[in-house]
Amino acid sequence: MKKLLVLACAAMMSNMSLAQEKGILGQGETPHVHLKSINIGDCKWTEGFWADKFHTAEHSMVPYMGEVLTGEVGHALNNFKIAAGLKEGKHKGMHWHDGDFYKWMEAAMYVYAQNGDKKLLEEIDGYVDIIAKAQEEDGYLQTQVQLRSNVDRYENRKYHEMYNTGHLLTSACIHHRITGQDNFLNIAIKHADLLYKTFNTDDPRYGRFGFNQTQIMGLVEMYRTTGDKKYLDLAERFINNRGKYKVEETPETKGYPIGDMVQERVPLREADEAVGHAVLALYYYAGAADVAAETGEKTLVDALDRLWENVTDKKMYVTGAVGQAHYGASTNRDKIEEGFIDAYMMPNMTAYNETCANVCNSMFSYRMLGLHGESKYADIMELVLYNSGLSGISIEGKDYFYSNPLRMVQGSRDYSKHNTETPHREPYLECFCCPPNIVRTVAKSANWAYSLSNDGIAVNMYGGNRLETKLEDGSDIILNQVTNYPWEGAVNITVEKAKKKPFDMMLRIPDWAHGTTVKVNGEAVESEVVAGKFTTVNRKWKKGDIITIDMPMDVKLVEANPLVEEARNQVAVRRGPIVYCVETPDLPENAKILDVYIKGGAPLKVNYEKDFLGGVATIEAPILIRKDQSIEASMYSTVTKPEFTESTIKMVPYFSWSNRGESEMTVFMPVIWNNL
Ligand SMILES: [Zn+2]
Repeated sequence: MKKLLVLACAAMMSNMSLAQEKGILGQGETPHVHLKSINIGDCKWTEGFWADKFHTAEHSMVPYMGEVLTGEVGHALNNFKIAAGLKEGKHKGMHWHDGDFYKWMEAAMYVYAQNGDKKLLEEIDGYVDIIAKAQEEDGYLQTQVQLRSNVDRYENRKYHEMYNTGHLLTSACIHHRITGQDNFLNIAIKHADLLYKTFNTDDPRYGRFGFNQTQIMGLVEMYRTTGDKKYLDLAERFINNRGKYKVEETPETKGYPIGDMVQERVPLREADEAVGHAVLALYYYAGAADVAAETGEKTLVDALDRLWENVTDKKMYVTGAVGQAHYGASTNRDKIEEGFIDAYMMPNMTAYNETCANVCNSMFSYRMLGLHGESKYADIMELVLYNSGLSGISIEGKDYFYSNPLRMVQGSRDYSKHNTETPHREPYLECFCCPPNIVRTVAKSANWAYSLSNDGIAVNMYGGNRLETKLEDGSDIILNQVTNYPWEGAVNITVEKAKKKPFDMMLRIPDWAHGTTVKVNGEAVESEVVAGKFTTVNRKWKKGDIITIDMPMDVKLVEANPLVEEARNQVAVRRGPIVYCVETPDLPENAKILDVYIKGGAPLKVNYEKDFLGGVATIEAPILIRKDQSIEASMYSTVTKPEFTESTIKMVPYFSWSNRGESEMTVFMPVIWNNL
């Protein structure tokens, strides 16, 4: 009997040790996913593009943002201090400012997971102490409400309590996974229990409350962290409530658009079009994907498939950006702000493309990658990371874009009317949701590079890194990746440790990488190598094996579907995952961005410039500059054959624009084909 017990205990312990519980998503026990997160910190960038970006996150983005948010300008920590009774004063900042502070804390934790800097952890734990003091006895914690005498708890959804809650729960789970400590998690448990008590009801007063729904993702992580199923049940209830109630203005909805704007007109399981505020929509879909990963509900997965296709194939920019308009209407004629409009309606100059929405697009795709195990989802993650995500922050890591249009023409818009659309990056944005969102994404990017499959490992993203982790069966694996990707297409992955039995190595072949070759120890693999799919190599791996992936890095011209009127007869330039743009500092004197026409079919030369814009490959492009145009002209004028001068200019990666002072920029350019 005793022996049996010992055996049972050993089996239990070995089971426990096999599951990876410390991922970005705590999917150790998640039943309905093909690919799971690796433990945070098991992959580290070592050299090259992402190592450089992480270095900037560690030494500039996170510390600088910390200074801002804990100081007088950012005022986020002050709000907690005042609520804790440690300071006198009033709440400052947007209703969602608490959430933005939690996001920054999450970013700082990812940095700590990589560098083990005890001082950083002490700093964060100091803030956790303050937050604990700010929390009310029953778990409520929302400084934007606590510090206002004229607002009640859960009085009106415009106060963004759900948003702050979601980021609190997520940040606390990440803190717990990385440190093993309970101090932050205990705050989250107390808070989530109150949320359950309040919202686990059929009272219609709370039915339409769950808007800007980061709380769904947060609740699923709480379930994964604590094992308490009530959190998962509540997450599912928030999904089930959408589309269930009559869309009308009530005291709880006053002051913020209703209907499609907040995805409450159509139940999610019936939805086939992404609508409304792009950040709200994508956080909602990402949360629903987390729920589906736990429940395996096919109807929900089918709906998410339709929505993902609708977003990425009908409403997404070539940079991976989403949310075409600052203001407009849905196809149901509901008022829309900062969100999706009709399919193929893709303005360049007025594109809104909030950094958060772009980041959420990659977060949604990361969850879909888990659900289906298909590489097309990682294509979108990568597209966003290199382009419309990174464009949200300067090379130096201290200035931010909220909106990421594809064209900037000085004098075309009155920016004084738009506080979130700016002609250049700003060191502080009053609405501070985007900056910590992109910073936490850069800080955690190494954790997206690999996933665990049932029988092996998937390489989702390329970049110099070292992976030291365990496969699903608990066996050790160490991989060392060396590459100068995305500037060069050759990747070498050396196996430093692997189990004796054969297992799968899933290598992502990007959707643009036609003609890629994959070799193991110099010999071409037998598996099919197809752009847009994983190439799975199953074999007995041994120490010293080298996988070589060679992706052609030709410069390509990209055109939009002809239904995209705003890009008719225009092309963008892309090389590998990087989308390029033309920026005025690289144009001949007095040339304007709208004067630039690209010569189709002309040779495009690549130059790597290590001391330019943090080290980038630029593209030398022959162009034509039109002489007879002006934005001062009347609305319509007659035209005969325009006059052009020839020139050769440098194109820079889209993410790196606006790092050289005020400028004009465009991604899409009219094309003139040489042989016509
Ligand atoms: Zn934002």
